[in-house]
Amino acid sequence: MQRLHPKTGWIEAICGSMFSGKSEELIRRLRRAELARQRVQIFKPGLDDRFAEDHIVSHSQMRLRSITVADSQELLARVDDRAEVVGIDEVQFFDHGIVNACTRLANLGKRVLVAGLDLDYRGRPFEPVPQILAIAEYVSKQLAICMVCGGPANHTQRLTESHERIEIGAQGMYEARCRYCFEPPREESQLESPETVAPTQELPPAPVPKPDAARAEKTSNGESDVPSSFRRSGGVG
Ligand SMILES: [Zn+2]
Repeated sequence: MQRLHPKTGWIEAICGSMFSGKSEELIRRLRRAELARQRVQIFKPGLDDRFAEDHIVSHSQMRLRSITVADSQELLARVDDRAEVVGIDEVQFFDHGIVNACTRLANLGKRVLVAGLDLDYRGRPFEPVPQILAIAEYVSKQLAICMVCGGPANHTQRLTESHERIEIGAQGMYEARCRYCFEPPREESQLESPETVAPTQELPPAPVPKPDAARAEKTSNGESDVPSSFRRSGGVG
């Protein structure tokens, strides 16, 4: 049997909350590929124009040239046949077709590197990222550091009142929070009807503002000693 693609492709997914260093990690991996003189192409959705029009940029100002595309179809159309590595940043802003696009590119023998938020501001899976995590060969979950207590943070806390799922911004509008300090938007969890809740989820009672005293007490009796367990787990970047 003749193999059309002697080189096997695969998908690497980098996910996590905001401020967890996803773009930084993506850029690091893509840079190494470029150093090895591999042909690298990088894409980002048109939606995210926070920093630069034709670069992917991390919060720490690392940057790489990228191509801005409107959707997964345009991305596929603009992939160079000779590209060996395809990077996609902010993948959560793509349409669902990005899942098939990643599969097709990997099947063509390309190394596909994607980075994106796995949870939205309500703390729910941010499609299509869960589907990409399922089909990826390699998954790296990056954690940020909770900006309230210093624990491992996998949630993105929105600090504004907006209920748009997509609200581009960074410092000032969002904070990284651990599961204890994360407070999902109140109005929505109150309006939520039972049918919209997945059967496996047991929702906690609607969040109430946590007085600082209660939090301090909880920490002092060791019940939620997040910083020390955080150290035990070896830390995160
Ligand atoms: Zn916390």
